[in-house]
Amino acid sequence: MGEARRVMQMGAGARGPMPGQPQQIQVDITKTTINPCECGHDLFVPAIRRRKISALLSPTGTELPVNEAVMVCMKCGALGK
Ligand SMILES: [Zn+2]
Repeated sequence: MGEARRVMQMGAGARGPMPGQPQQIQVDITKTTINPCECGHDLFVPAIRRRKISALLSPTGTELPVNEAVMVCMKCGALGK
């Protein structure tokens, strides 16, 4: 009887991390490579693109403003990918 109980406890403990938890990735920045813009510049600034949901798709039945976060090249203004 005692043996069966111990196996069950081990089984529960052997499960991995909880699903749905965001994985924090630790990266040494000196071991990464630069991902520049098509123009060659490698500095970007965060920007907001204003969008709107049409009344047909909106849950409230009226047009709704939505903000989309984007990155913009500081030199040529192209969107970062
Ligand atoms: Zn650029």
